[in-house]
Amino acid sequence: SNDYRVVVFGAGGVGKSSLVLRFVKGTFRESYIPTIEDTYRQVISCDKSICTLQITDTTGSHQFPAMQRLSISKGHAFILVYSITSRQSLEELKPIYEQICQIKGDVESIPIMLVGNKNDENQNREVDTSEGEAMAKKWKCAFMETSAKLNHNVKELFQELLNLEKRR
Ligand code: GDP
Ligand code: MG
Repeated sequence: SNDYRVVVFGAGGVGKSSLVLRFVKGTFRESYIPTIEDTYRQVISCDKSICTLQITDTTGSHQFPAMQRLSISKGHAFILVYSITSRQSLEELKPIYEQICQIKGDVESIPIMLVGNKNDENQNREVDTSEGEAMAKKWKCAFMETSAKLNHNVKELFQELLNLEKRR
């Protein structure tokens, strides 16, 4: 089918919901509203047809383990988000990545994007761009820095994920 399921993982507060809402609705909020789990549908053009992106915005690392396994099983592609202002948030992605490997097997064939969000906050940076790139290389996935706040690289993030899918 033309339904393409993308799951967004990452620690609380890194900007998962902000990236999704920026992409789907074009909006941004300064306030932090913790997410339960939300799914958004966005119709986009890919190749010469249209397809539906189904984006699941998760609660982050406090997700119930069974729910996390289910999201991974059902997902076609994954966005792993940390904040460039928090080294801890990058650390927290490791168990999620490992679980994706465990459930999906051959991760090289799965579109995964490692995302360093909040790159408008350079003065509070804890993770250098080169460190994000190195982690992505180790994980054999793609990498991008974004800002949901400034709408930097947000459309590109989802577009690139689809490009990775097509290259499989
Ligand atoms: P989530 O828990 O990962 O879903 O994070 P949220 O999307 O709820 O964002 C957490 C907080 O970070 C909120 O106060 C947002 O306004 C803020 N935030 C999200 N993205 C950015 C960004 O790109 N830059 C900055 N400066 N703040 C952001
Ligand atoms: Mg959220």
